[in-house]
This record gives sequence, structure tokens and C-alpha cells, in this order.
Amino acid sequence: MFSKRPFLVEIVAAAVLLAVPFVLPYLDAAPNTVNRILVWGLFGIGFDILFGYTGLLSFGQSAFYGTGGFVAAYLLTRAGFPHVVLALLIGMVVAAIVGYLIGLLALRRTGIYFAMITVAIAEIFFFVEFNPLSEWTGGENGLPGVPTPSFDLGFTTLKFTSGWSLYPFLALAYFIGIVIALRIVRSPVGAILTAIRENPLRAAAVGHNVQAYKLTAFVIAAAYAGFAGGLLGVLQGFMPPDAFMFDTSGQLIMQTAIGGRGTLFGPLVGAAVWLFLQDFLQATLKLGAAWKLVLGLVFVLLVCFLRQGIIGGIKDLFALTTGAGKATEPPEQAAPVIASAAPVAPMKPRHAVLGDYGGPLLQAKGLTKRYGGVVANEGIDFTVHRGELRGIIGPNGAGKTTFFRMLTCEVPPTSGSIVFEGRDITGRSIVDVCQLGLTKSYQVNQLFNKLTVRENLTIAALAQLRGKFRLDAFATLRNIGGLEEQVEHTLQLVNLGARPDTPVSQLAYGEKRRLEIGLALASSPSLLLLDEPLAGMSPRERVETVRLLKSIAQGRTMIIIDHDMDALFELAERITVLQEGRVLVEGTPDEIKGNALVQDAYLGGVHEVELEA
Ligand code: ATP
Repeated sequence: MFSKRPFLVEIVAAAVLLAVPFVLPYLDAAPNTVNRILVWGLFGIGFDILFGYTGLLSFGQSAFYGTGGFVAAYLLTRAGFPHVVLALLIGMVVAAIVGYLIGLLALRRTGIYFAMITVAIAEIFFFVEFNPLSEWTGGENGLPGVPTPSFDLGFTTLKFTSGWSLYPFLALAYFIGIVIALRIVRSPVGAILTAIRENPLRAAAVGHNVQAYKLTAFVIAAAYAGFAGGLLGVLQGFMPPDAFMFDTSGQLIMQTAIGGRGTLFGPLVGAAVWLFLQDFLQATLKLGAAWKLVLGLVFVLLVCFLRQGIIGGIKDLFALTTGAGKATEPPEQAAPVIASAAPVAPMKPRHAVLGDYGGPLLQAKGLTKRYGGVVANEGIDFTVHRGELRGIIGPNGAGKTTFFRMLTCEVPPTSGSIVFEGRDITGRSIVDVCQLGLTKSYQVNQLFNKLTVRENLTIAALAQLRGKFRLDAFATLRNIGGLEEQVEHTLQLVNLGARPDTPVSQLAYGEKRRLEIGLALASSPSLLLLDEPLAGMSPRERVETVRLLKSIAQGRTMIIIDHDMDALFELAERITVLQEGRVLVEGTPDEIKGNALVQDAYLGGVHEVELEA
């Protein structure tokens, strides 16, 4: 995310692209094959942003490839438009607009349903190109006579015709494409796309408009596809109808998987393997159509042994030989969680900034949630004042988590209302509510598992600093004012300052729980809800985490659910007891400890002695 050598990749890419026409002819590489690889590579850059970075597997990229290609080809042939590059850009814009409209529809669903919609879209576009629009697209004949680009410089004319002469034009297009893509993936938008791939629920819960960012990725992929489609026409001298075929989408997916998804260069490498293998097996070994059998075997082997594709495999090998990414021992195995931590100044919660509202911070009235016949919460009245630390206890199934889910608008209440900082937030989205300053940590960790601790916290902090959606796809994370300070501060608050660059998967359980709290804290909420922060911890970790929670609570309003009553009695000023979805009783820890209703109804008298202790 924070790239240490920002231009290294661009420089290496430029060097390789420059070297290709001097090296590959000696290896008998056909220039036309090299040019086709570049077109597939460019097509794949956008797809990789969508699939590799955002986690959205689309089978419909041929629709945008064909759209951009045919628009550009139509302009350059039938419409007599003279400017090749401008025609390619117009094709790209049209493909992006079509992508936007299709994205609005397809992204209403997730997972397999999203994929199925994209399959249907690819088929519909293929049909439309062949039938109703055949007069414009040439139907099965395509559009012949697509010109190649030439640039009149006054003193000379630069002509890019075919083979190695066309290569510089395609290589430049690819290079510009990769530079733009690298910029996007290193921007805040790119960071959020990766977070969406890892955990869309949490990306929304920390305040990002997931749907808008997914649509952004979809449009970017469509734009790349559209431009590459136009280049296909230029490369072949005619626009072939098979650009629209479903096979095109399938080949793109396989090439990306072979090369390595989430790498940007993966589709180019995958295309090189595919096309060189095709040339070698068909032309040299004369295997004819059987070459696909060999390709299939190569694909299976690669997927089995290099799950992240060729580039992923190279990266793993590099990490193995250099020791990069090696798991480091969790510090708490040697030292207590916070015993050595220096005191950290409390982070400024939002109310300190906004603060002109004087009423209760949160007020829920008659909050009820029914799941069919199950009543999870019924008629809950609940008020929390600014600066309060409230505890919520209740037996399993009492409705505590459901109550939190309603407060953060993760689920809508069946009836009742929620007023936060004087605003009625009932029925608002989880994204909006987080943006207003109300967020929670989860009972079961909801982290961005493939990202590092710092990257996790960055995602959360970005939501507060940039709002729920901003299209700063060319900004760099370093230029987001206050980001590094906020992340650093949160790292210290949850005592993960020694492990900022450790991937989540390598953290110890207690560290993951602290990061879970850190994700909620990083957006500096006015009201922080913690759902069982002590769940699954050892007794020693509990004691240390209680101390951590005490330090976090300074100057903050918090509601904590936990089964550890001793801990809550120590932490909270007031306790609300839920039973069977209703508020049983509310009071100070001493009142709750001595309350007969709690002892009889909630604990059935079993823990009477324990409560009094
Ligand atoms: P625990 O302490 O075990 O986490 P809890 O007090 O948090 O429990 P909830 O998880 O809120 O309790 O569940 C309250 C009731 O609502 C339970 O009977 C549960 O089965 C039911 N419930 C919760 N979520 C759903 C759902 N999505 N669909 C159907 N029933 C649900």
C-alpha cells in the first residue's frame, strides 16, 4: 500500500518493453504474437483491477471489449473518422458508459449471482452484435479496413503499420495503461478495493460505500476493455466479431489466473504463455486443435501448484529466498500485552470536534427485532450519555449482538427508533452511521486478513478522512493529510506498534482481537460499541485487555458487551442486563451485583456467590 520504491515497477516495465524488439526477434518470436500479447495484457489490466484487486469475477468483459472495439472500428471505417487515437478513446468512453450502466445492474448481486449476470450480459451483447446491430457491426463479417495510426509531425510522418512497426504504438499504449493502473492501485481507491476483496462487510462497517467503489472498479475494467478492443481492430486491420464471444471472456480469466491475479502484469504474462504455447504447439509441433489439451494440462498444473499464478509464484520464491514476509514471533509471547506500553494520549473522538449537541448521545426507543417467529429484541428503551462507559450483560441468546447490530444499522429494527447525537438514524445504512461516528467491533473478528496491521488500520482511517466515497484514484496515500498520524496513534492505542507490517494471518489471537478493536477505533468514533472484546482470551490476556480498554475509554463514550462480568463490573459505570430480548434491569455494578432479579432470573441463582465476591 505504502510503496517503498514508487517508480521501480514503472522503470522495469519501460525497460522490458524497450528491450523486447531488440531481444525477441533473436528468439524467433513472431511480432504479431507479441503485439497480440500486448493487447491482451492491456485488456487484462482493467480486469485484474476488477477481479484481482476487488475480488469481482466477471465473465462479461467481452461485452466491453467488443463495444469499444466496434465503436472505434465503426468510426474509423464506415464513419470515415480520421483520427485513430481519438476513435480508440471514444470507444473506451462508450465502453465505460456501458460498463457503468451494466454495473449498476450486475452489482446488485454478489458472488455466483453476480458472475451469472455477467455471463448473461456477455451472451446478450454477442447476440445483439450479430443480429439487431449487424448493419453497423458487420455481423459475422466484422468491420474490415480499420486503419493503423500515423502521426504527422510536420517534418516527417510516424507510421505504425504492422508487426514490429506497430509494436511501439501498442507498447506505449500498454505502458500508459500500466502506469495509470499502478497509480490507481496505490491510491486510496485502490486500498479500499483491496479491502472490499478481503472483507466487504467490514469495509462497509468502517464507513466506505462499497457499492460505489465496486462500480468504480467495474467501470475502470470496462474502459480498459474498450480501449483494448479498439486496438484489436487496429492490430488486425479489421474488427472481428469474435471479440464479443464468451470465449474471449474465458480466455482473459484463464490468462489472468495463469499469470497471477492481483499483480496487474499477470494477464500479460498469462497471455504470453497462452499465445507462445499456441504458436509453438500448433506451428512447430503441428498439434492442430489438440494444443488446447496441452494448454488445459498446463493450466491445471499451474492452478494446483502456483495458486497465485506465475507472478505470485515468483513473489513467493523471492520472499522465501530473502526471508521477506517471514513470520515474526508475537511479542506477547515474551512480554505482557501492555505492561511495557508507554501511555498514549487519547485520540480525539468526533464529538470533541463537532460537539454542540447537549442531549443524550444515543437514545433507542421501543427497539424490537423479529426474525420470523424468533423475537431477538423487544421494546428496548436505552439511553447513553456522552462520556459514559456502559456494560451490557445477558445470557447466551439474550439478544445483545442483535441489539448492537440494530444500533449500528447493520440490520433494520422491526419497530422502534434510534436517535444518535440528536439525529434519527433508524433505517440508515451502516456506512452512513459509521460516517456519523457510531461504529462497533465484532464478536467474531472481521479483519482484512491478507493485509498487514497498518494496512487494516489505514482502511478504517481513510473512511473518516475521506468520507464514504471519493474518486481520488490518482492520489497517493502519503498525501492524505493526517492519515499516517491517525494510523500510528491507533497502533499505539491498541498496542500493536511493534507489529505494523505483520500480515493479519500471522498475528496471535490476542493481537487479532486488539486489531479488531483498532479497526473500530481508527475512525475515531463518538460512540464505540465493543461486542465481546474479551471473547476467547486467556485469563492473563483478559486482565491486560481490560487495562487496554480502560486507557481507550479516556474521553470516549463506549458500550461493551461481554460475558466476563468481573471485567465489566470493573470497567463500566452502569450495566444493562438483557434477558430474552428485553431489558431486565439497569444500574451501577453494585446494584446489579446485589439485584435479586439478576441473580434469580438471569443466573438462576447459580452464580450468586460469584456475583457477591
Ligand atoms: P451470545 O451471547 O451467544 O452472542 P446474544 O445475546 O448476542 O447471544 P443474539 O445473537 O443477539 O444473542 O441472538 C438473539 C436471538 O436471536 C437468538 O435466539 C438468535 O438465535 C436469534 N437470531 C439472531 N440473529 C438471527 C438471524 N439472523 N436470524 C434468525 N434468528 C436470529
